[in-house]
Amino acid sequence: MLKSKISRFPSSRIKIGVDIDNVICDTFRPILKKFNKTFNKKIRYQDVYDFFYLEKQAGVEKDRVRFLIDTMILKENNITTFLIYDEAQRVIQSWRKNNYQVHYISARPLEARQTTIDYLKHYNLIFSETTVNLMDYDCYDSDVDFKKKVVADLEIDFLVEDSREIAEAVPTLVFLLDRPWNKGRLKPHIKRVYSWPQIKRYVGKLIKTKTDEDG
Ligand SMILES: [Mg+2]
Repeated sequence: MLKSKISRFPSSRIKIGVDIDNVICDTFRPILKKFNKTFNKKIRYQDVYDFFYLEKQAGVEKDRVRFLIDTMILKENNITTFLIYDEAQRVIQSWRKNNYQVHYISARPLEARQTTIDYLKHYNLIFSETTVNLMDYDCYDSDVDFKKKVVADLEIDFLVEDSREIAEAVPTLVFLLDRPWNKGRLKPHIKRVYSWPQIKRYVGKLIKTKTDEDG
């Protein structure tokens, strides 16, 4: 599986797509905590078997759930609310040293652009060619369609995601960080991973294999 195509390599640079929420930072836990407090629920993180569990299964109107989530992302201090995964920060910065391009692809709304850029800058995660791609809800109904399009347009070589639905839809190699909502068997182009150092090792191996093949 990992002998995937990196057809452009080494003639041009590796492009890695990185999702933001629940991939470089812990977004779901603080949202769940606030949700439980606001709506007097006792939902446990490990029981969230569907990413849209709060919107679909929790017995609260979808609009109220969306409002709570959007308010947290747009109005709260993201740096103190959504803690960065230190390992993600270290690995992404190491990719920079390897001269790989890093592009963020998130279904956050366009209105979150400045907050999101400030967050990434705060952790030194934006480099000269880095793009931050957020979803225009006037143009797309689904995060799957949006991410598929960005991955194709940017010619992303690998994607780091936590959404199984997105991982299944994109035609590129995906590292899927293990989360309660993405359990189960995966298609061959998706590699389940448990940590960022594991992703780093796989990427290193892939690129070495390709370099050796090109001899
Ligand atoms: Mg995510």
